[in-house]
Amino acid sequence: MSQHKPRKALPVIDPDRCTGCGRCIVVCEPKVLWLEAEGPNGMGRKRSVLHDEPGCTGCALCALTCPFDAIQMVKIA
Ligand code: SF4
Ligand code: SF4
Repeated sequence: MSQHKPRKALPVIDPDRCTGCGRCIVVCEPKVLWLEAEGPNGMGRKRSVLHDEPGCTGCALCALTCPFDAIQMVKIA
């Protein structure tokens, strides 16, 4: 039986608001966020991406930490 508490919400990152500052990545305990560079050769601006959705605990620390209001916690069923 899984010991995981069911998540109530997942973070949705607004790519237009995200500056790539990396603060959400630092506070995310399970390390499921990372910075991804845009553009064909990874030379574009960086943005935060949830790369491991099943690993996210829904703790909302990333959303609380983001100084640019780029992360919204969206309820899941
Ligand atoms: S804290 Fe906010 S602005 Fe900074 S990388 Fe994360 S989502 Fe982007
Ligand atoms: S909600 Fe918590 S576990 Fe999920 S990405 Fe944000 S900081 Fe990481």
